[in-house]
Amino acid sequence: MLYPFKNIADIPVFNKIQASELIKHLTDNLNALTTIETDHKVIDLKQEDDYFIIDNEYSAKAILVASGNGAFKPKKFPINMTEEAEKHVHYFVKDPKIFENQNIGIFGGGDSALDWALELSNIANTSLIHRRNEFRGLETSINKLKNLKNVEIYTPYLPKTVEFIDNKLNIGLKKVGSDQMINREFDQIIVAYGFKANNLFVKKWGVELEGSHIKVNSEMTTNLPGIYAVGDAITYPGRVPIIGVGFGEAQIAINSIMRKLFPNKTLTIHSTSL
Ligand SMILES: Cc1cc2nc3c(=O)[nH]c(=O)nc-3n(C[C@H](O)[C@H](O)[C@H](O)COP(=O)(O)OP(=O)(O)OC[C@H]3O[C@@H](n4cnc5c(N)ncnc54)[C@H](O)[C@@H]3O)c2cc1C
Repeated sequence: MLYPFKNIADIPVFNKIQASELIKHLTDNLNALTTIETDHKVIDLKQEDDYFIIDNEYSAKAILVASGNGAFKPKKFPINMTEEAEKHVHYFVKDPKIFENQNIGIFGGGDSALDWALELSNIANTSLIHRRNEFRGLETSINKLKNLKNVEIYTPYLPKTVEFIDNKLNIGLKKVGSDQMINREFDQIIVAYGFKANNLFVKKWGVELEGSHIKVNSEMTTNLPGIYAVGDAITYPGRVPIIGVGFGEAQIAINSIMRKLFPNKTLTIHSTSL
């Protein structure tokens, strides 16, 4: 959802692979017993006999939470504008082609903003606007961007005004710490101010958090028997938030679940057999 066209790094075997392609490989490899339900925000959990009941709809003997940083909503661009102008404001980039040969403003200073600026610089003129001189994203990405001719970097600037003229967004940018204003015109803008997200829904179930992450032991078990967690949702000393680490944690969790559900079965140690 966040970066379907991005070339993902650090997936073993692939030098690089586009996110949408990785997802296709994963879904193609699901077995026939697996079903996927989308557009369902999980909220409620109760226990009946040996089963967990999720939102009064699904029952399961074990639960594996892989909720990342939680169900998220993008932080909005801070200036109100007309409905027509809003159509030129994007919070996700599903199809980069819609930006081809245009002037694109990208607001934000983290990895998402830098990744989008880099990707779109192949097909459009991009301007990166951030409220601080320092970026939170990877230094290598910043250095690449600084060397590109069709990328302009504006720091430290904050958007203050928007006018929608001739199908373009004319944005007034204020230099932080001074009264200086400049105006820049964009065909479209991408807002990468991060997301409002949390995993508090599992806290209501009694799952122990550390900060906003779920505490697990080395078997990916939470404090509640039968509830396991993996991926960016969890924390333990030394965890790194990358996809490959999550894949490994899922294999550990599946083994833990199998041992709990089928204690008399001998599990093969060379594959999860699932
Ligand atoms: C810009 C950017 C670039 C990145 N690049 C790379 C890279 O190149 N290589 C790499 O290895 N990693 C990269 N990462 C990190 C990687 O995206 C994460 O580590 C990974 O996505 C975590 O996977 P996850 O399944 O734990 O969580 P997520 O991918 O966040 O998935 C969690 C899912 O759970 C859903 N969810 C949450 N709460 C609920 C609920 N209550 N009910 C139902 N659904 C819910 C969410 O909507 C989401 O779909 C990048 C991250 C960012 C932000």
